[in-house]
Amino acid sequence: MKDLNAMILEYPLLEGAIKSGVATVETLAGGPPSVDLSYVLPGAKSAVVFSVAMDQDSIPDYLGKKDRLSYEREYNMVNSISSGIAVKLAGTLFQRGFPAVPLAANDVYRDDTPRGRFDMAPPVSLRYLALASGVASFGWSGNVIGEKHGACIILGAVVTSAELTPTAPQNQEDNYCDGCRLCAAACASGLMDKKIMTEIHLGGNTFSYAARRDYTRCQYVCGGYTGLHRSGKWSTWSPGRFPVPEEDAPYLNLLIASSVSYGQRPEGPGGRYHSMMNFKLYTTCGNCQIVCVPDKEERKRRYKLLAKGGVVVQNEDGTLEAVSPEEAEKRLAAMEPERRALYAGDLKTSD
Ligand code: SF4
Ligand code: SF4
Repeated sequence: MKDLNAMILEYPLLEGAIKSGVATVETLAGGPPSVDLSYVLPGAKSAVVFSVAMDQDSIPDYLGKKDRLSYEREYNMVNSISSGIAVKLAGTLFQRGFPAVPLAANDVYRDDTPRGRFDMAPPVSLRYLALASGVASFGWSGNVIGEKHGACIILGAVVTSAELTPTAPQNQEDNYCDGCRLCAAACASGLMDKKIMTEIHLGGNTFSYAARRDYTRCQYVCGGYTGLHRSGKWSTWSPGRFPVPEEDAPYLNLLIASSVSYGQRPEGPGGRYHSMMNFKLYTTCGNCQIVCVPDKEERKRRYKLLAKGGVVVQNEDGTLEAVSPEEAEKRLAAMEPERRALYAGDLKTSD
């Protein structure tokens, strides 16, 4: 078993991951339902967890709204690499006699939660596996962060019946997060509660992060349906201008109603197919994640690029362009009502 442990930890690193670890049923004990390994594999004992770093070269121009496609490609590719490592490692474990199930890095959700897949609850939470195994620790945002690449990492994991030796969690107090809140400042949806913290308990350890308001906020903004920051001075890469209200209640209806307009917008370059959407999903946000790096000056620089990068509008050929907030208003006002309704105005919700 010692050899299997060593091999299992090295395997993801040789395939492109930067860090690996093991969480077990014991080190996950006391956690929320999303750490139940038996959900994907009855009799599971352990999970091998790893992180893959994104190449950050494309991030400044993405945040500054100069080049969306290069970061989108990197993000999609690293998610595929992470899922691919999980598939290969699960195959190796299986052929050594240990049933194993790879977890997708993204885009797979439970059906049996109160709102079904709208809750976007993964079969097993990769974030919690990463915490319990010491692969990463929590930033204030609730994104997991690593020592070198910050939050610019993508997690992957394999759940297995093999009884592996757990690796120790990191001490959250030791990570670089200084509570700068630039992640919250970079979020047009207001997902993170600035006053309330959430705690989770895994294997006798306590981890905390900013409480999240209705998750649908993030789906609505990160999904690209809308994206203007409440200041009106900058946006995500979304050309949508639908409201982002202060209260949580209307978000699910807003999401559903705005998806109709979203589906009628002209297709642009790039995008990908997402399990919950009938139209292509374009990477338009992720700002809370990619603004967060260990170097505080770089964090501030990234936030400034975002906040000074203007407001995105969509041209008739589907291409996106960042312009000043005033110019964006003018362009929207000049559109025929039918075209303007794809981006702004009252949404017909059932509320
Ligand atoms: S942006 Fe700042 S507050 Fe947010 S997680 Fe990163 S270091 Fe922590
Ligand atoms: S991905 Fe975008 S909308 Fe979602 S929480 Fe992060 S910054 Fe906010």
